[in-house]
Amino acid sequence: MLLTRLSHYIDGTPHDSSSLWRMTDLVDMSSRPPPDAMLPRNEPMLRADAYAIWFRWFMEGLCNPLRYVEDETKTIIDVLADVLARVDALYSSEPQDERIAFAQKISQRIMLEVERHRQLKRVGASRAIKRDLVDAAGSEPRCWICGFKFSGQAVDRFLKKRKGIELDLPKFVDVLKPRGILSRDIRIEVDHIVPVAGGGGGKDNLALACGWCNKSKGARTSIYDADGRPPRSVYALGSVVWHELPHPFWTVRILATRARCEHAGGCSATVKNAELFIAPGDARGAPNPSNLHIYCAEHDPYAAHRFFGREVAKRIWDDRARAVA
Ligand SMILES: [Zn+2]
Ligand SMILES: [Zn+2]
Repeated sequence: MLLTRLSHYIDGTPHDSSSLWRMTDLVDMSSRPPPDAMLPRNEPMLRADAYAIWFRWFMEGLCNPLRYVEDETKTIIDVLADVLARVDALYSSEPQDERIAFAQKISQRIMLEVERHRQLKRVGASRAIKRDLVDAAGSEPRCWICGFKFSGQAVDRFLKKRKGIELDLPKFVDVLKPRGILSRDIRIEVDHIVPVAGGGGGKDNLALACGWCNKSKGARTSIYDADGRPPRSVYALGSVVWHELPHPFWTVRILATRARCEHAGGCSATVKNAELFIAPGDARGAPNPSNLHIYCAEHDPYAAHRFFGREVAKRIWDDRARAVA
């Protein structure tokens, strides 16, 4: 049954990408959503991230929370007046009591956003906050995204116990998640789980991350905030030649949402107790989000091949070019 649905879907999908620029073709494509289970990996995240963007655009398109942030005399009454006007215009044929109830619901959500933005002050990572974060991490402070275990030297540098410590760069770097090419990569940084630019504030929003994960995450929250195509570079993992690298933000997004080893036989390794690695689920598929898998060191099929000399890994990443359609 699934194959029948997939076959219909393939038949109805134009192979000519110029159709992506024709409105009639877009209308046709939008009437045929991809069948469930089309994507073997990460389908819930790939759908949820798309829906989350639609939802944000829907809410903010109705009424932009940033209109009320600066002027603190503006309250939910002001928001409601604006939202109601928009709802009346957009849904004029709906009963009035339903329009009012709907506008109230929307206004409450928008007001929450307004308040988040108002409170939003980047919690400067004071030494006390850093100390708290390290203490909360227990005996093995790790990156909350990839599970990389920080060295004692990195902890000392982070807490400024010793001034001017330069961290020792690793000799070998995981080519798929190239942490360690730059010294920032292996430092400890304070990550805003929800980026400040996206309304994240407060101490609960802070976590320890390695510099590589933190810089690769940036202010992005959705898989669609990153390029849709992987960077291109040619390299070999064992006997398999690869033509693309996993986009660093895909790696971060999938690691942070999976947070555990996905070995088919089951595994107790999580981001809290082990470093996790990204790899294509199948070497014949491209390293894109429908084919990327998380493994612990023990179950990683590329454990013997993914580590390259630092200079070689650097060259592979320096060589990358955006793939062209
Ligand atoms: Zn990390
Ligand atoms: Zn495992």
